[in-house]
Amino acid sequence: MLSSNRRVCGVGRAHTAQLKRGKVVAHPLQCRCGAIKGFVDTPLSANRAVCYCRTCQAFAHFLGREAEILDERGGTEVIQILPKYLTLTQGTEALACMRLTQKGLHRWYAGCCKTPIGNTLGNFKISFVGLVHTCLETPNRTLQDSFGPIRAWVNTKSAKGSPKPKTAGVGRTILWFIAATTKARMEGSYRHTPFFRADTGAPIVTPRALSSAELTSVMSAVNAAREDLR
Ligand SMILES: [Zn+2]
Ligand SMILES: [Zn+2]
Repeated sequence: MLSSNRRVCGVGRAHTAQLKRGKVVAHPLQCRCGAIKGFVDTPLSANRAVCYCRTCQAFAHFLGREAEILDERGGTEVIQILPKYLTLTQGTEALACMRLTQKGLHRWYAGCCKTPIGNTLGNFKISFVGLVHTCLETPNRTLQDSFGPIRAWVNTKSAKGSPKPKTAGVGRTILWFIAATTKARMEGSYRHTPFFRADTGAPIVTPRALSSAELTSVMSAVNAAREDLR
């Protein structure tokens, strides 16, 4: 607790200094009910992207929050960062984790209020989290102000309706991913993550993979939502 307090205070001082220099400050994160709170440091190192894939749509439907999470074409805006830049200041015990299948991404959310937090791989050495925009929305600052413009639109074939949105920024996103994860691996900073234990690399909560019946039900909700725009 002491160390996290110290860290928060330290960041507070850094913010004041950054503000004086007119630089971007850490961006707050919280779940809808406020049990989970934290912040993203160094927001401008993020890659902002929209993913239209069916599994991201399925995650939104699983949470029952598709109206807030998905845009009108079924896209999920994600803010991709190194997990070391994410600090949770409270509510870590409320984190829950699901996987659509045994091989799927680890999809983290607030168990208290079903707010999506972000997606990671299962291996914490490949250091990466795609934060879902809803936990970063705040009346005081736009995502554009903190993280810069959206730079990538991916998996557009799975977007709802037609014509499909244009795919863009895939190369940039791959380069960002390689550079970020390599850096974290080389400096060992992949261990600084709220989602995995630093010593063993095990997820802090056991992810729950959906049963095939649950998956079928979620995917039919995704398909039904797509019918609207056909
Ligand atoms: Zn909550
Ligand atoms: Zn996706």
